Amino acid sequence: MAKAPPKRPNRDSVTTINDDGSRFFLHPADAHGPWVIARRVAAVLLIAIYVSLPWIQIGGQPAVFLDFINRRFHLFGLTFGAGDIWLTFFLITGLAFFLFFTTALFGRLWCGWACPQTVFLEHVFRRVERWIEGDAPQRKRLDAAPWSPEKAFKRVLKHGIFIVFAGLIAHVFLAYFVSIPQLYEWVRASPLDQARAFGFILIATGILYFNFVWFREQLCIVICPYGRLQSALIDEHTINVAYDERRGEPRGKMGTEGAGDCIDCNRCVQVCPTGIDIRQGLQLECVACTACIDACDEIMEKVKRPRGLIRYASEETLAGRKTRYVRARTVIYMVFLLLGLTVMTLAFSSLQPFESNISRMPGRPSYVTDDHIRNQFLIRLGNKRGEPARFHVEALSMPAGMRLVGWETSVELGPYAEESRPLILQQERAHYTGPVPVTIRVRTEDGRGVRERTLEFLGPDPRVFAP
Ligand code: SF4
Ligand code: SF4
Repeated sequence: MAKAPPKRPNRDSVTTINDDGSRFFLHPADAHGPWVIARRVAAVLLIAIYVSLPWIQIGGQPAVFLDFINRRFHLFGLTFGAGDIWLTFFLITGLAFFLFFTTALFGRLWCGWACPQTVFLEHVFRRVERWIEGDAPQRKRLDAAPWSPEKAFKRVLKHGIFIVFAGLIAHVFLAYFVSIPQLYEWVRASPLDQARAFGFILIATGILYFNFVWFREQLCIVICPYGRLQSALIDEHTINVAYDERRGEPRGKMGTEGAGDCIDCNRCVQVCPTGIDIRQGLQLECVACTACIDACDEIMEKVKRPRGLIRYASEETLAGRKTRYVRARTVIYMVFLLLGLTVMTLAFSSLQPFESNISRMPGRPSYVTDDHIRNQFLIRLGNKRGEPARFHVEALSMPAGMRLVGWETSVELGPYAEESRPLILQQERAHYTGPVPVTIRVRTEDGRGVRERTLEFLGPDPRVFAP
């Protein structure tokens, strides 16, 4: 016998938790309208970008390739080594201030339009679910119905497709870290030969499947910190998805005398993927998905009232005042954003096409022989380009009697190759007068990169040391 579909929890409490504390599983209805279409186009573009970035080649490398194994990171033709990791500070803070800035102006645009959770959930997984199980009322009925061949078929088909999509997303994700050719090789090999990669794909697919099948809006409501931050980032001039209370209230069924434009049809609540009622004002659960705008506009057209009872608007606009875009918080976020962009541009323009690290070799800082004092270092060179490069290493401003041993000739490194070699500074005892700084310069033969590092040449205390 079919169970009665569960009742929606009390609207004053969290919309996805039943009164007994159990999960209330939402079945949002499908919304239709220009905003849904625009978001779908944006989602298709974003998914296309996500899938194609590891395939697109720029300068012989994928457009985005985070090669942790070799400590090299390729981003749109630029190659970063482990020594350039400090740049991520500017990248992350730049992105954060960009997000703050757009949130202060336009609320949770990111959540509704570009967040991978929304993009994949709303435009891939829910679409498949609707295609197989129908719109919200049919899905609720199917949930409550006893098991039958039809229900089993629909469930197997849906979950089978979900697992395939979750697996595909996981594979593309892995491609960002290992490249497409490597991934292809692993996919063709036996899972037993590639146990770690296979294990990663299994776990990632499992997490994605769990998230898109069951966890869904809980990720936005319970886990994501951005929703909680929004109250600190927005103000009454921020443009959000909002209900025009002055126009809609007092709500009442069609024909109710003195009622506003809201006919209390509940359609905006039915389409909401987080189950909230936008008429209660801006809430933490609202991911600004615009579904309620389209749903309400459809109703307004049916009842021959102007569209836009729910629309993108600031509190100030809804109160009949003017929205100000230039205000203290937007200016401050903009200043930080520009500052970060400037520093990042300068830092990126000073990027070297190679890496070089010089470290003192383990052991004593200096070795004294009958004729010389010797300091031993290790120099590691890394070519960050996809073509061979020749490197010259030289010591600048060496004091009398000193020479650089081991780097009399230049060295050629292949594409993305690395090499470590000893670098020895040696000074004749007769000329030694005490510790002295020596600058080591590494340069490419084509002159496209130069790096300098000053080392301290050490030796015994000259006051107690007889040459
Ligand atoms: S869809 Fe529009 S008319 Fe219907 S309840 Fe929501 S706000 Fe009111
Ligand atoms: S309230 Fe409207 S915009 Fe916010 S999540 Fe629900 S449907 Fe989307």
